[in-house]
Amino acid sequence: MIEINDVHKSFGDLEVIKGVSMTVKKGEVVSIIGGSGSGKSTLLMCLNGLEPIRQGNIWVDGIEVHNPTTNLNKLRQKIGIVFQQWNAFPHLTVLENVMLAPRKVLGLSKAEAEAMAVKQLKHVGLGDKLKVFPGRLSGGQQQRMAIARALAMSPDYMLFDEATSALDPQLVGEVLDTMRMLAEDGMTMVLVTHEIRFARDVSDRVAFFRNGVIHEIGTPDEVIGHPQKPETAEFLKSVV
Ligand code: ADP
Ligand code: MG
Repeated sequence: MIEINDVHKSFGDLEVIKGVSMTVKKGEVVSIIGGSGSGKSTLLMCLNGLEPIRQGNIWVDGIEVHNPTTNLNKLRQKIGIVFQQWNAFPHLTVLENVMLAPRKVLGLSKAEAEAMAVKQLKHVGLGDKLKVFPGRLSGGQQQRMAIARALAMSPDYMLFDEATSALDPQLVGEVLDTMRMLAEDGMTMVLVTHEIRFARDVSDRVAFFRNGVIHEIGTPDEVIGHPQKPETAEFLKSVV
């Protein structure tokens, strides 16, 4: 489980997270929605210790992320991240790209890493692209490869930061379908997304970020279906 307690985060003088608290339980899917610059990406970065925080604390399975004694490499193995875009190594095949981290970070043998990579690539529907170079994949296939790469580390959590925002509209669906499959498999997920309908469908809870705080949080039906705050309603109107 992830526990975020009164987190504050600044870049220089600019405070971008201004006291955020929330928990993500095992198996839960929590979507973060909100306008550009509201601190969504920064919060994800803080969750796995990619960014320091100024105040508060974050716990992942009882490990305090920003405690100096915490082994961040070990923590990050638990938490897979998929960004808007992942630049795969162009000279390695799809299979080799996905095998890399399990080999280097987890120390799996070549055979073990290959078995894991094949399994995850099949899981995301890329079983026929193993020997292909990433440059030959469509944007949607590249994002599914990025998901397979994260899954190959056997993470307990998956974070998605606008995983479909860089895609042509006709490629968005296949990536959302893959994310939906993970959610249905029971993966614990935190996703930043502008796909409001998707967030409504797959999430257990939705948090609306505004100016570095959680302005409104609740079930999808509450926050998206019946927003209590005018700013939430206004935001939803602007993205649908
Ligand atoms: P969102 O993902 O909601 O669009 P971000 O978390 O990326 O928002 O950014 C929140 C604020 O923090 C913005 O004002 C952004 O310009 C600022 N910011 C983000 N990253 C950095 C950085 N590395 N250095 C300085 N300012 C940053
Ligand atoms: Mg962002």
